[in-house]
Amino acid sequence: MKKLKEISVIIPIYNESAIILELYERLTKSLSGITNVYELIFVNDGSNDDSIQKIKLLSDKDQNVYYIDFNRNFGHQIAISAGLKQCAGKCVVIIDGDLQDPPELIPELYKEYQKGFEVVYAQRNKRKGETFLKKITAKCFYRILEKITNFTIPFDSGDFRIMDKKVVSELNNMSEQNKFLRGQVAWLGFSHSSVKYDRDSRELGSSGYSYGKMFRLAFDAITGFSDKPLLFVSRMGLIISLLSFCIIIFAVFSYFVLDQTVTGWTSLIISSAFIGGIQLISVGIIGEYIARINKDIKKRPLYIVKETNIASEGDED
Ligand code: UDP
Ligand code: MG
Repeated sequence: MKKLKEISVIIPIYNESAIILELYERLTKSLSGITNVYELIFVNDGSNDDSIQKIKLLSDKDQNVYYIDFNRNFGHQIAISAGLKQCAGKCVVIIDGDLQDPPELIPELYKEYQKGFEVVYAQRNKRKGETFLKKITAKCFYRILEKITNFTIPFDSGDFRIMDKKVVSELNNMSEQNKFLRGQVAWLGFSHSSVKYDRDSRELGSSGYSYGKMFRLAFDAITGFSDKPLLFVSRMGLIISLLSFCIIIFAVFSYFVLDQTVTGWTSLIISSAFIGGIQLISVGIIGEYIARINKDIKKRPLYIVKETNIASEGDED
């Protein structure tokens, strides 16, 4: 077991060899202003370069450096999750390993955290050096997410943040496979604050987030936190069925009253409208059930307790 630390820093690494040394130096410099009892947990997410060798060298000479080396690339969110499981800090900082999140902001985050907030996230003022397409997709994504979920995910903040160990232990209890940590933290609903900063552009290397990975993340966020797309089907089913009903009435009406139909048209249109309506309603009902299964399968805690005077097991005081 590791000893309790004042601060843990989790750094997901995917092909960041060129900047690891600078990253390490800037991190240690900025942390040493806060405490000596800290740990850096580098999670190497299946890099193809020599990132892990560089990290191992650092851990040889600095006992505050830990590493978790993945067998292959599992993705940014999983890398952070692995770090969260292993960290031993009273509070935990998550920071990107590409220096887009400035390590120099950690003392500010920590200061704000000490005011009593359980989560302090770094909120970017503006995105430097990112393509127009990336900016616009990010913006749309947050807007849509806000509309279809029942809680607010702070706009324009990534995973760069400091969290109390209470929050981390709740996150570790969330068993979902498709992680979207920003959403999960917002869902937990701890007290939070933010510190503004300018996000730097990437100095070296290239973004490990392809549009494919970004799309995956957006999809995980939406399906993980909203049943609305599923429920949309059942709403559509109802609307289309109503429409089909009108078409059926019209078909019967034109057959008997207007007497202008081509032979066979009435029975054809009635049966296809009927079947179409029934099918969509059925899919909708199945959707409602899937929405419930989807909720249960995540095995999220039902609620998060803020405070209680009932001692839980293992508490001595
Ligand atoms: N990263 C990772 N696994 C991946 C992709 C990225 O661990 O599959 C790491 C990467 O090394 C960086 C952080 O996650 O430290 C953010 O990635 P990136 O800079 O590519 O994302 P962007 O800033 O473009 O959103
Ligand atoms: Mg980046």
